Amino acid sequence: MRFLPNSLFAKMSLTIGVVLVAVFGITSYLTYRIQSEQALTATKTQAILLTRGLKNTIRIGMESGHTETLESIFRTVGALPGVEKLRVFNEEGRIRYSAKPAEVGHLTDELDYTVYRSPERSTPFQSETTGHRSFCMVEPIENEGKCRRCHPKDVEVLGVLDVCLSMEETERKNEFNRFLILSFTGLAIVLTSGLTSVLLKRFVSRPVERLVKTMESVEAGKLDGRVDIRSGDELGRLGNSFNEMIRKLSDAQDELEKFHHRQLARADRLASLGEMAAGIAHEIKNPLAGIYGAAQILVNEFPEGDPKREIVGEMMTLVKRLDNTIKDLLNFARYTEPRFTKGNLNDVIDKVLFLVQQIPEGKRARIVREFDPAMPEIEMDPEQVKQVFLNLALNALQASPDGVTLTVRTRGDVPAEGDAVLHRARYVMASVADDGPGIPPDKMGKIFQPFFTTKEHGTGLGLSMTRKILDLHEGRITAESAPGGGATFTVFLPKSKA
Ligand code: ADP
Repeated sequence: MRFLPNSLFAKMSLTIGVVLVAVFGITSYLTYRIQSEQALTATKTQAILLTRGLKNTIRIGMESGHTETLESIFRTVGALPGVEKLRVFNEEGRIRYSAKPAEVGHLTDELDYTVYRSPERSTPFQSETTGHRSFCMVEPIENEGKCRRCHPKDVEVLGVLDVCLSMEETERKNEFNRFLILSFTGLAIVLTSGLTSVLLKRFVSRPVERLVKTMESVEAGKLDGRVDIRSGDELGRLGNSFNEMIRKLSDAQDELEKFHHRQLARADRLASLGEMAAGIAHEIKNPLAGIYGAAQILVNEFPEGDPKREIVGEMMTLVKRLDNTIKDLLNFARYTEPRFTKGNLNDVIDKVLFLVQQIPEGKRARIVREFDPAMPEIEMDPEQVKQVFLNLALNALQASPDGVTLTVRTRGDVPAEGDAVLHRARYVMASVADDGPGIPPDKMGKIFQPFFTTKEHGTGLGLSMTRKILDLHEGRITAESAPGGGATFTVFLPKSKA
């Protein structure tokens, strides 16, 4: 319904208006038509009754020899309201008796004479010879029975009774009726549509407007507005539910803000802890290198097959692991301020995947690239972002070292269903999905915590480092997993710095 105006009130008013005009219009037209038909039928019946009655009166008057009374009957009946014509003419059409004596001796109207000559005589017909509609009837008075006592037997018709009833009065009444019906119809339409408009505005339009206004203010982030609809009808209930929804939303936002503050405080603590750990790691690193060097010298002191040589060898492996952990820890602490430059996320990820393909697990994996060619240039620290995707890809490979399908998708625009980010147009996204064992639900909440690991030689710093880098980029990361159905990590990065 494109042609309708874009407002609920206008649409409803227009529809109701059209329905009212149609219903009232059709009803009024039918009433008028029925009334006109009834008036016509009544005049027709009157014409038949009057003609037949007069015919009998004439017959009786003639038979009893009171022909002079006929003239007075004609004059009396002819003076009745609505009787327009009352006369008797002979077979040639010459008037013999008439309510208007001046007509006697003249020829009758052509139409009346023609009808008399036609087989349909004795049937009422309409005439407009007088400028308005009339109902007329011509009824022959046959020469039969007692008439033959005075009239020659070979004459068939003694005279023709010609009666016309005017419809002028009926038409005037009809006109008046039409005027009344039209006026009342117009008044009814105006009153009904006016009343409906007022009710619509009061009970539908205004509450809906208030609802829309509040919705808009909620959309703009103002959660203190409430809809003021006090009626107990559906709109009132809708307003109450909406108010309840805003209240819950506002509570949730408060809760979220508190949570955010707690997280910030925790992040602060973690940051100082990280700095402390980095300091300690630095202190440990050099002595550890010394221990490793010493062990290397020591291992050569013992001959091949000597159990002591094996112990020193094991010592060296453990020192190597310690060294790796310290490297990760230092890495973790080192990531502070990103150095932003413009770059293409597809290129960065492509380099990471190339690196990954060089290690044994990478060679066993099937790597699928689904890159969005319309990826815009974004502001990022390419080294840090590389680290993010390296962590994600390595985790996927380590989850199924015997071979995995790694699918990396990128999108220049966040699709509508990706509601993880509020302002979707500001971000690009990339997901790393594997078909490995997935992450059990009870571990899901912990994987981003520092030092959480399920791997024998893991440090549990990869994902927390990833999250840290993304925080510094004002991006975010989400993880999804169905146990046994693989894991998908989705990264959102802003196109430019806020
Ligand atoms: P690390 O790799 O040293 O364990 P991370 O922080 O990178 O540390 O990962 C934490 C944990 O998250 C891993 O030990 C593992 O249990 C889980 N994890 C991460 N990525 C995946 C994945 N793709 N599939 C299954 N588990 C994963």
